[in-house]
Amino acid sequence: METDMQSSKQTIDAAKIRRDFPVLNQQVHGKPLVYFDNGATTQKPIAVIKALTRYYENDNANVHRGIHQLSERATNGFETARKKVAAFIGAKSERQIIFTRGTTESINLVAAAWGRKFVSEGDEIILTEMEHHSNLIPWQLLAQEKGAVLKYLSITEEGTLDFTGFESILSNRTKLIAVTHMSNVFGTINPIKKIIRLAHDRGIPVLLDAAQSVPHLPIDVEHLDCDFLAFSGHKMLAPTGIGVLYAKRSRLENMDPYQGGGEMISSVWHDKSTWNEIPHKFEAGTPHIAGAIGLGAAIDYLNTLGMENITHYEQELTTFALDKMMRIPNMKIYGNAPERGGAISFNIGNVHPHDLSHFLDQQGIAVRAGHHCAQLIMRKFDIAATTRASFYFYNTFEEIDYFVEQLTEAQRFFDY
Ligand code: PLP
Repeated sequence: METDMQSSKQTIDAAKIRRDFPVLNQQVHGKPLVYFDNGATTQKPIAVIKALTRYYENDNANVHRGIHQLSERATNGFETARKKVAAFIGAKSERQIIFTRGTTESINLVAAAWGRKFVSEGDEIILTEMEHHSNLIPWQLLAQEKGAVLKYLSITEEGTLDFTGFESILSNRTKLIAVTHMSNVFGTINPIKKIIRLAHDRGIPVLLDAAQSVPHLPIDVEHLDCDFLAFSGHKMLAPTGIGVLYAKRSRLENMDPYQGGGEMISSVWHDKSTWNEIPHKFEAGTPHIAGAIGLGAAIDYLNTLGMENITHYEQELTTFALDKMMRIPNMKIYGNAPERGGAISFNIGNVHPHDLSHFLDQQGIAVRAGHHCAQLIMRKFDIAATTRASFYFYNTFEEIDYFVEQLTEAQRFFDY
């Protein structure tokens, strides 16, 4: 263990990396900031902040429409970012990359543009009880509108998907399986290759909510063979307000537009219009140009570190944290999947997660408390909320030591 830790510490030198993240270098309530709320959003390196400033200081213009220098530069920056995203997730073509506001908008786009066209009364959509509300509510809205049926894969005590009876819930009315790649509550990495294979054997498309996986794992959409994949820039070093929908080309070609407006049309008459080619057909209006450029810079940064190194380092951090946390009396950790990422949800004694996270905040530690937009999980475990610590590659083993120390202090403080 020690040797492993040493080796990955050499590839991911968190102490050095932290100098790239100005926000991490501050005190909160007089204590050095320990930022463990990366599942909610990540911090931004100087390279990303500079890419935004550089764009606004030198190149700001609207994209695609202008025949002037600045517009050409803005368009070039925006379209280069699209190519970087495509390469990062192994897409065959940048035309398969739609820029959206984030995971939520990407899934809503599929529910509206694909769902309204292909889902009818009595059709079935398979979800899981592990989903973030972003991958539930769009399907509930669609099902209500169309009279479609939602079916759920349940979860086990271990925070994994229960595949008992999975094949029997698939029918010739199943139109889609929409599932999270990595749980934002348990950290569970779901066996999506297996799900996709079983679905494709029956001609059923699969949508992956990759909000928690793309920032932390190497992803290859061609290898996974998923039909749709959604993720958010802000969870992987980029600004808020920019995200991605990847889809197989034939799916995008067959879908109707999501929103109407500028950029997404080819020709317009009084009573009808024709559509621009993909991806522009799905990008009505002026996009978040700076956001896309920032996402491109974030991808460059992640590539320099190497996604495999990031995964490996985060797994060591997580194992280290779990091992220490489990020794705290009255500690209940939710989720114990064999394959997992660095999101740890827990409760200690009967301390309310809001009180605990307030206590931790006083010690400079930022964690999240609540239902984590996953109320189906909370219902299953019969709890209102958990506290969640979630890591990124700039977190350190020393921060985890301090965090565990403070959890022990909390035990004394709340006297449970
Ligand atoms: N899906 C999962 C698994 C998430 O963790 C989140 C955000 O926490 C989302 C979807 C929604 O992402 P966004 O709010 O960036 O659209």
